[in-house]
Amino acid sequence: MANIQNPRTQYTTEEFPKQYQEAPGVQNQMTPVPDCGEKTYKGSGKLEGRKALVTGGDSGIGRAAAIAYAREGADVAINYLPAEQSDADEVKQLIEAEGRKAVLIPGDLSDEAFNKEMVEKANSELGGLDILALVAGKQQAVKDIADLPTEQLEKTFQVNVYSMYWTVKAALPYLPEGASIITTSSVEGFDPSPMLLDYSATKFAIIGFTKSLSKQLADKGIRVNSVAPGPIWTALQISGGQPQENIPEFGKGTPETPIGRAGQPAELASVYVFLASIESSYVTGQIYSITGGMTTA
Ligand code: NAD
Ligand code: MG
Repeated sequence: MANIQNPRTQYTTEEFPKQYQEAPGVQNQMTPVPDCGEKTYKGSGKLEGRKALVTGGDSGIGRAAAIAYAREGADVAINYLPAEQSDADEVKQLIEAEGRKAVLIPGDLSDEAFNKEMVEKANSELGGLDILALVAGKQQAVKDIADLPTEQLEKTFQVNVYSMYWTVKAALPYLPEGASIITTSSVEGFDPSPMLLDYSATKFAIIGFTKSLSKQLADKGIRVNSVAPGPIWTALQISGGQPQENIPEFGKGTPETPIGRAGQPAELASVYVFLASIESSYVTGQIYSITGGMTTA
């Protein structure tokens, strides 16, 4: 990739074909397949010797973070749902191709007991834990509150919000001084869409959790920050995150970004690396927006 490029044309600006998969979806069946930096991310030893757990690490933004962490020298455990095994197998190969250890931990984050098991397994198989990148998320668009089932409301909050409490609670006894926790919020946590009534509320909650936890853990020398993506081309969006009519112009039309296109997961990797590494030693309680120019404040 050239060192200077117009961001508007750096990735595809073609209309996306309409396509639907049942959630969570697998990205190896998408057209085009999201770019998670498989061919482009270059490491420079920023996370040598570090041990990371990445939820949602099979696909999309979590996969981009997992690949980058491995290329920066970290051993990486990823969590995902059993239906996503084929995407997870690819990530395992990519991590191992860097000579790093890959640990696969499939399971459902809406189950409190599983969150603890996941952390225990990551810690024991990696021989420690010092980066928690909490990227997993559930998003189902529903246009009318009258049609929003309580079951969806509960699951969205369990996966997006409760699991952060459960995971951090389980991980804290293991996290050393200098460890980093990175949550994943959204532009939806600043400027919510009318059709994401449950999801947007979880993203506001994640921002509150991140800021509050950063103050609680500062004494322990643990930093907590969040990445707030804008419209990024991932399986989340084609598996019910957007209505199908929004897919062709996603990132260009609805929602509209100043950069004029959807982002690719690869464009978020370096911020997940920065927030995990000692380069961000004076950064905690912050929300990093990567939105193609959509306003967050
Ligand atoms: P993605 O579908 O590739 O990743 C989401 C992951 O969440 C899935 O791979 C899955 O493993 C995980 N997940 C969902 N339900 C789960 C459950 N019950 N148990 C365990 N894991 C579960 O999509 P993505 O867009 O890369 O999503 C990553 C994060 O980015 C999410 O938190 C999402 O809310 C956030 N985000 C995405 C966008 C976007 O436009 N794509 C915008 C803002 C925020
Ligand atoms: Mg996935």
